[in-house]
Amino acid sequence: MPVTSSALAFINFICKKAFKTHTHNLGKVKLMLRECKDHGYFRESICPLCGEEGRFLMDTDELESIGRTMAGTLRHFPEKFELNMDPQGFVDLKEFIGALQRKKRRLRWLRPHHIIAIIETDPKGRYEYREGRIRATYGHSIDVDLDLPTSGIPDALYYPTTQEEVDIVLETGLKPSDRKKVHLSKTYQDATNAGKVRTPTPVILEIDTKKAQASGITIQKAGKTVYIVESIPAEFISKAPEPEIQTVEESEVLPENEGKD
Ligand SMILES: [Zn+2]
Repeated sequence: MPVTSSALAFINFICKKAFKTHTHNLGKVKLMLRECKDHGYFRESICPLCGEEGRFLMDTDELESIGRTMAGTLRHFPEKFELNMDPQGFVDLKEFIGALQRKKRRLRWLRPHHIIAIIETDPKGRYEYREGRIRATYGHSIDVDLDLPTSGIPDALYYPTTQEEVDIVLETGLKPSDRKKVHLSKTYQDATNAGKVRTPTPVILEIDTKKAQASGITIQKAGKTVYIVESIPAEFISKAPEPEIQTVEESEVLPENEGKD
């Protein structure tokens, strides 16, 4: 039987649809989670080290959805999934997956390595995997006793506040509000990014961590750019000087007459 034109049209339609789906995914590749057999997990369309496509683990929507559940459960409401959380904030990974799958049946495919991949590739280092257990390393609104690193703390850390609150913070110090700990940022820019969630023009405060630690205050490294502390007295807080913008070198290498008009 000859191939009819309608059959051809159908094949054409399927091909276009496949292409469309493919290009659609390309727009979101940044968050797609894959695994290279040689270089581990990555959130791109190809392995950043060897360029291989590797093994597909989950798409953007799945990554975002599971990520939201992880953050909520591990930081705020482990009881929602009837999970036992130990004093350091850890829950059993297999129990977590089981609980998740009981509520969300479409996640039947989820296995421990999917969660470990999310943790290992998290751009902010928000989670920790240790011997079959997982936890959030900061952002908690529940009481946890985090045994996080206390060495190698930078001499200065930063905290974003608002125009309205800056004077009271400089007067009374930093105490936790909606979270259990005060969250400090590694750089002026990190603090600015964090502060912009609350106000378009955050005021950045600088913490003298050397003096604070010398007075007995424990500061812990909780994420790639996040440090946590119980509280910081006012004596260690000042308004941060705005960082210098480094453009001098660039203008120096320009020939004399090629500067801006
Ligand atoms: Zn690779």
